[in-house]
Amino acid sequence: MKLQYEEEPSQPVAQSQYPQPKLLEQKPTELLTLTPWLAPIVSEGTFNAELLHHIYQPLNLTIGLTAFAVGKYTRFVQHFLESAERFFMQGYRVHYYIFTHDPQAIPRVPLGPGRRLSVIPVPGPSQWEEASMRRMEAISVHIAKRAHREVDYLFCLDVDMAFRNPWGPETLGDLVAAIHPDYFTVPRHQFPYERRPVSTAFVADGEGDFYYGRAVFGGRVARVYEFTRGCHMGILADKANGIMAACQEESHLNRRFLSHKPSKVLSPEYLWDDRKPQPPSLKLIRFSTLNKDTARLRS
Ligand code: UDP
Ligand code: MN
Repeated sequence: MKLQYEEEPSQPVAQSQYPQPKLLEQKPTELLTLTPWLAPIVSEGTFNAELLHHIYQPLNLTIGLTAFAVGKYTRFVQHFLESAERFFMQGYRVHYYIFTHDPQAIPRVPLGPGRRLSVIPVPGPSQWEEASMRRMEAISVHIAKRAHREVDYLFCLDVDMAFRNPWGPETLGDLVAAIHPDYFTVPRHQFPYERRPVSTAFVADGEGDFYYGRAVFGGRVARVYEFTRGCHMGILADKANGIMAACQEESHLNRRFLSHKPSKVLSPEYLWDDRKPQPPSLKLIRFSTLNKDTARLRS
């Protein structure tokens, strides 16, 4: 790892009794810009892209990006990469890691200077029922094996999505979470957390910050290692107890972000869903789920 400067504190948080932070509390069209633990909430208008570029460009950073393409999801890779080439970390070194059972199926998308792609082999779709819970494990193993030497920051993204507007250094932070587009106006007792105390992903009714999406998370590579490993351990413990969390990986991700607070939070601009109309509070959509027929894909 090439970064020299000190990390922010990363103590697990035990305190759980405090009011829910609400993204739209202040004014109906203006997003909250700071969490109660003083992490910036990134959205259009909160940063100066040009200034950030001048600050981050000289650091010579390499940004990693993982995406899984198993079974029929290989069909999303081309559009995903083409859109990333247009919008993701323009002007920085980028290393894409595409995890797949079928390297032949990964298209040769032309990459800009300083940008490269590695294909990481994983088990095939017949084992994917298992493997959908295996992303955390695969990412942590991959970081330990090689990514820790190759990148400074790492983002882990769903592949059935596309970039639509610039995603730049404003997203970089020690540990980064993105607010799920379905729950940013919802009181926390309605978040789809795992509610059974027997699960390691358990969250009590009066707890919760934002409901984060599993389709986008990241941070400094060492922190992403700890994060994915922690989630994987929770998943394994549940499995040993014969329990599957309500929203699988996403339940574990949310549990972990509650006690290991993200140092930066991305607004739903960075994790949107094209099937939803764009609300006035979001000035632009940067990364969004494609309209796909999930039932057909999984059949
Ligand atoms: N995925 C995959 N093959 C599958 C199912 C999932 O490669 O058969 C990967 C893919 O990267 C996908 C991610 O796991 O984007 C999450 O799955 P999905 O997008 O179906 O979940 P959703 O976004 O609908 O919750
Ligand atoms: Mn998805």
